[in-house]
Order: sequence, then C-alpha cells, then structure tokens
Amino acid sequence: MDIYSGPVFDMARTQFHRIADHLEIPADARDRLLYPKRAVAVACPIHCDDGSLRVFQGFRVQHHLTLGPTKGGTRFALSVDIGEVAALAVWMSWKCALAGLPYGGAKGGVTVDPYALSPRELEALSRRYMQEMIPFVGPHTDVMAPDMGTNEQVMAWFMDTYSMYQGQTVTEIVTGKPVATGGTLGRREATGRGVAYLIERALERLDLPMTGATAIIQGFGNVGSVTAATLASRGARIIGVSDHTACWFDPRGLDVPALMRHVAATGKLAGFSNQMAFDPAELLAQPCDILVPAAVERVIDGAMAARLQCRVLAEAANGPTTPDADAVLEQRQEIFVIPDILCNAGGVIVSYFEWVQDLQQFFWDEAEVNDRLYRVLQRAFVQVMERAARDRISHRTAAMAIGVAKVRDAKDTRGLFP
Ligand code: GLU
Repeated sequence: MDIYSGPVFDMARTQFHRIADHLEIPADARDRLLYPKRAVAVACPIHCDDGSLRVFQGFRVQHHLTLGPTKGGTRFALSVDIGEVAALAVWMSWKCALAGLPYGGAKGGVTVDPYALSPRELEALSRRYMQEMIPFVGPHTDVMAPDMGTNEQVMAWFMDTYSMYQGQTVTEIVTGKPVATGGTLGRREATGRGVAYLIERALERLDLPMTGATAIIQGFGNVGSVTAATLASRGARIIGVSDHTACWFDPRGLDVPALMRHVAATGKLAGFSNQMAFDPAELLAQPCDILVPAAVERVIDGAMAARLQCRVLAEAANGPTTPDADAVLEQRQEIFVIPDILCNAGGVIVSYFEWVQDLQQFFWDEAEVNDRLYRVLQRAFVQVMERAARDRISHRTAAMAIGVAKVRDAKDTRGLFP
C-alpha cells in the first residue's frame, strides 16, 4: 500500500494509528479500516486554446463502501497527487461517520492550476474528467462535490456529462450543483455557515461574546469568505484575511462586504488595497480570538502551534494541523480546537440533503436546510465535547474516535465477505 505514501497520507496514517491505539483496535484490523478500497488514476486529454493538446492526470479514491456510497469533493490544484487525495478520502470517512451520514469517504482531483485555464479549457477538463470516471461513480456508488478549485459550474458540467451518457438527467450524481439544475438551497454557504455556527458554540463554552471578537481567516474561497461574512454579520471583527494572491491585516477590522465584492469581481484578494499588506506566513501567529485556517493542509506544524495566539482554532480546511502540532496543542489547553472533521462538516451534511432531495425530487426551503444542518452539527458537537470530557482526550481524538468506531462497528457487523 505504498502508493499513497507522502506527507499528507502519512499524516492521515499517523492520526489513524493514534485513534486506533486509543480505541485499542487490534493490529490486524487496522489496515482494513485505513487503506482505501479503490483508487483510480486517469489521463484527461484536452485541446487547449493555443491549439496544443495537453494531458492532465486525474484521480479518485473511494475509501470504504461499508455504509453506502462514497462521498467527497473533487479538487483542481497543483498539489493534487494520489496520496493527498487518499488522505482527504480517509478524512471524509471519519467526517461522514461523525455526522451520522450513510456514506463512506471519497475524494478526487486533477493536478492542474485551474486559474491558468480559460473558461473553455476548464469546461473541457471538467467534462473529460467526469467522462473518464463514469465506470467508477454513480448515485449509489460514489457521489462527487466541489472542493478547492472547483465550484457549482464545474458540478453542473459533471452532472451534464454523466447525464448525457446515461440518456437521462441524473441530478443525484453530484452535489453542490447550482440550484437551477437540481442543487439545494443553502449548499454553497453550508460549510462556512457551519464553521460560524460551531465557533458560536465554542465561544459560548468559553464565555466569550461574539460581538467584538477578533477573527483571522486564511483562505478566502467559498468556505473562508462565507465564514468571514457570517462571523462579521454576527458582530465579530475580521482583522486578517489571505488567499494565494494576497494577505490583508488591519487590527481595526476589514470591510468584509467590500472584500467579497472585490473577490466576486476579480476572483482574488490581490488588488483590494495597497495599504494593509501583511506577511502571509505570519498571519496565523497574530493575536486574535478566532483563527480559521480555510485553505490547504498542514499549515500549522509544531512550531506554528507553539506561536498561535488565538482562543478558538476553527479548522475549516481539511487537515490544516499536523500531528506534531496536535502534541503542542494538547499542552495548550487555553486554545479551544474545533477539529476539521467536525468544523467543516456542514458542506457534506448539506450535500447529503441535496442528494436526498434529488433522489426524491422533493425540494426543501432554505430555512429547513439550515435548521436541519444546525441540528446535525449540534448533535455532533455535543457528542465530541462529551467524549472529550469523559475520556480526557483532545477534541480531535474524540471526534476521530467517534468516526473511526462507527466505521469499525459497521465493518464488524457486516463481517468479511466471502
Ligand atoms: N469537499 C468538501 C469536504 O471536504 C465537501 C464534500 C461533499 O460535499 O461531498 O468536505
């Protein structure tokens, strides 16, 4: 199983073995739980605007099929390789199990800089990737969704490509689609809303008011920007934001609606202002009440964990905190960690609602979507808090232990075939 080895999968493996130690899972049962059931690598050739033909490498990893179809996003980024995708699929499994969704985890991706493609090239790549995946996915096999570098439009192309091959419209093949093509109300905002909801629950436990709380957000894509806007609308002061193009910091507070308008118009934070530029490497270490990494994996290592000056660490990204950092954070009880598989679960929870609505062709209003989202998050949050207090373990260990145990129990109950 060496094909997955690399920094990101090694991190998922280290985390898993810590949890398996805690749950006292015997050595011979561990590989069955950890290693992905299926991994597919495909070549995606497209015609580029300059007349050349380019081939992009695509992947899809389906971690386990024990509880139902697999579920997870598709990432378009230069960092994408089989190990990163496998780690993200494993984390999706623990996330779905913690939230009580009837899914195993999956993840897919293409190694590409999506910002370097023209709209036509992006469409060609999206369609070719889905076309290559047709033998491996299906509404009851594996259901894709957006992730870094993909969006509602890409999901619409995925759905259209799959449907054209089936000869009928199959909206339930992907989630995170535009509402006009079978998407659900509230999906685009779901991850960020969930992050903000859980931050509120954390602040309540710390007896800190949201009004006037300071927040720093790394990453200003869909998740980071919605988190920033939601926190700001509830009275928080957003003092720092960054994306791959710029970093802005102002202790007096940034104008989040203006930032959102700028990003909507230009696609990036760069160019917003030339007065408040800040070193992105230092952003995470600035004093604040709420720190939200909402970009890539492994941005908080052991050294950075020792330098954090936040009260709440809300992991909107997948895997932002390394196991070394976890060891430091376990000593820093003053930092309240909302672990990634809980913190960003709002996205896949509302993806589940979208899938259910598509299967039934019966659509809910946004209030119902949000109300159900918060109920699922509240239940998972309380479970994690209770487990952490009962077993005197970190929030991450508690969250992952709940997720891993659910998958283990399902595998044990079903038994080994044949
Ligand atoms: N890519 C998102 C995640 O990492 C969403 C997955 C989904 O909605 O299926 O959780």
